[in-house]
Amino acid sequence: MFVIFGFRTTVFPLGWVTMACHVCGQGRMALLREVTKFSLFFVPLFPVRTKYVAECGNPMCRTRRPASKSDSRLITH
Ligand SMILES: [Zn+2]
Repeated sequence: MFVIFGFRTTVFPLGWVTMACHVCGQGRMALLREVTKFSLFFVPLFPVRTKYVAECGNPMCRTRRPASKSDSRLITH
C-alpha cells in the first residue's frame, strides 16, 4: 500500500500596504498570506505553517520580503 502525502502552499492576497520596497523604492507592496497545509492522498488536512510576505507592486521587480500579521493593519483599500 502506498501512502501519498505532501505539503501544499496556498497564497491568499490580503491587500495593498504602503511600504517602501528596499530594491526599487516603490511605495506599494501586496501583502500575502501563505498557508502551507499537510495533505494526505492530495487532500489538504491541516495547516502546518502560516507565513506573511510583502511583495513589491512593481511588475518588473516583484521582490518579496518577510512581513508579519501585524502588517495587515496597514492595508489600504
Ligand atoms: Zn521593488
